[in-house]
Amino acid sequence: MQSMQQQSVTVLGSTGSIGVSTLDVLARHPQRYSIYALTARERIAELAQQCRRFAPKFAVVASESKAAELRELLAGGDLSTEILWGVEGLCQVASDAAVDTVMAAIVGAAGLRPTLAAVAAGKKVLLANKEALVMAGPVFQRALAVSGAQLLPIDSEHNAIFQCLPQPCASLESAGVEKILLTGSGGPFRARAVSELHRVTPDEACAHPNWSMGRKISVDSATMMNKGLEFIEACLLFNARPEQIEVVVHPQSIVHSMVQYRDGSLLAQMGNPDMRTPIAHALAFPERIDSGVAGLDLIAQGRLDFEAPDVQRFPCLRLAREAMDAGGSAPTVLNAANEVAVEAFLQGRLAFTSIAAVIERVVKSAQAVELTGLDAVETADRNARQLAQRVLGAL
Ligand code: NAD
Ligand code: MG
Repeated sequence: MQSMQQQSVTVLGSTGSIGVSTLDVLARHPQRYSIYALTARERIAELAQQCRRFAPKFAVVASESKAAELRELLAGGDLSTEILWGVEGLCQVASDAAVDTVMAAIVGAAGLRPTLAAVAAGKKVLLANKEALVMAGPVFQRALAVSGAQLLPIDSEHNAIFQCLPQPCASLESAGVEKILLTGSGGPFRARAVSELHRVTPDEACAHPNWSMGRKISVDSATMMNKGLEFIEACLLFNARPEQIEVVVHPQSIVHSMVQYRDGSLLAQMGNPDMRTPIAHALAFPERIDSGVAGLDLIAQGRLDFEAPDVQRFPCLRLAREAMDAGGSAPTVLNAANEVAVEAFLQGRLAFTSIAAVIERVVKSAQAVELTGLDAVETADRNARQLAQRVLGAL
């Protein structure tokens, strides 16, 4: 075996769907990677198990009481894992000098500060936490430009686009790119009668036909707000103009996205729908490592279908486009309203079809501000959440 420098990795959100897939890939390459820190908000027993298996230097939880719970679970063993808690702990393990790579896989706005801490510290940042980028667009981009951190997309579509572009890619224009085709499965309700949608349950919405994911992103996939957030994510990651990005519904989730070039070439990245592929790609880039995912059997797959998205059925797509066009804090407000509405739906307090209605009302009545820095982002996020709660209360 060739000798190489071992990479030290922090996994933010290690008990989540992406976190667990990341640990699965890391465990296949123990000479290549060591685990610096694991973090979780709940499921402390699972975090304790991960600590026993991977012996990280740090484990970070949400509160002092959760820290005590974890300490109790790990007592008696010979682990030297140090336990931290709160946002400060997350930011510390995302930015410590001893860390090389940070997997940003906390869900939602809660991931913003630790992800930005990793960016500011110039880490190799693997971005699953799309909400952090969407809500803080220009602030996130400035932090990247200042620190020179390397940002690699984990979202399967953006990872696919990255793979279909020449690297490095100074600009889409200089690379001869005409447009980006962002694919999405259409979620579990692509073909359900629109008149039935108001009564779908959280469990139905979370039963995605192709991907197994956390509950928040599963609901986002069912409303197609996930594709809306990904549309904004693609504009920001690849410096694409909104009109350069086209959403294409592809029910099989085999083509993960495509890039259309000036000369008529259309490059696609394909694979089985398993997040370990983009995770392994980003971890090892520019090398390739085993991810545990089987190669694609195209003959067994048989056919690949593509269709235009139904914008009547999925108003969230339109809302995301409008927010990107409006700029400033509009994407921040869109994301915050969506998080509040999805949470209410998951708790059985809001009808599925009212998710988009709540977001639309919040976006229409929120005050648009310029995102001058992290404070402006957090203020816009907080105000939009309060507004969303009022809209929910009035329903
Ligand atoms: P998940 O709900 O399964 O896991 C979320 C993780 O974040 C857990 O470890 C949880 O403990 C932690 N967490 C949640 N709230 C927190 C808080 N307030 N403070 C600290 N930690 C907190 O979610 P997931 O499906 O793994 O998704 C994670 C991120 O990756 C999301 O942004 C999602 O959009 C993105 N993503 C996921 C997939 C997928 O296949 N699951 C694909 C593409 C992108
Ligand atoms: Mg995706």
